[in-house]
Amino acid sequence: MKFKIQTKGHYDFIDITRQVASIVEQSKVEDGIVVVFVPGSTAAITTMEFESGIMEDLKQVFEGWAPEDADYKHHRRWGDHNGAAHIKSALIGPSLSVPIEEGALVTGTWQQIVLIDFDERPRTREIAVKVVST
Ligand code: ZN
Repeated sequence: MKFKIQTKGHYDFIDITRQVASIVEQSKVEDGIVVVFVPGSTAAITTMEFESGIMEDLKQVFEGWAPEDADYKHHRRWGDHNGAAHIKSALIGPSLSVPIEEGALVTGTWQQIVLIDFDERPRTREIAVKVVST
């Protein structure tokens, strides 16, 4: 299954736990795995406590990895300006697997599934979700 979200870019953190949990519920899978994947090379999926303090802290760490306003070889090659987004997306990764037990996600109480859009502009993201029974 897929679902769409609108993002603003520039470190847009979006909690997608509800959408993923809903797809798992509809699948009726009691025991299995759900894979969540974002097509595209300027966004990433991870887990975190969805809280503004940690978002600011993470943003600071990410800027240390690859500042948005730095110069990247990618810009000269393609004429765009999202080299920093490609780097952070590659380092975090585009997908996440979560175990399913008794029909529910096995996540911690404060552990949300979060998409981070690093791109330099708003995007419509289509998130792919596969529920596998084991
Ligand atoms: Zn690019």
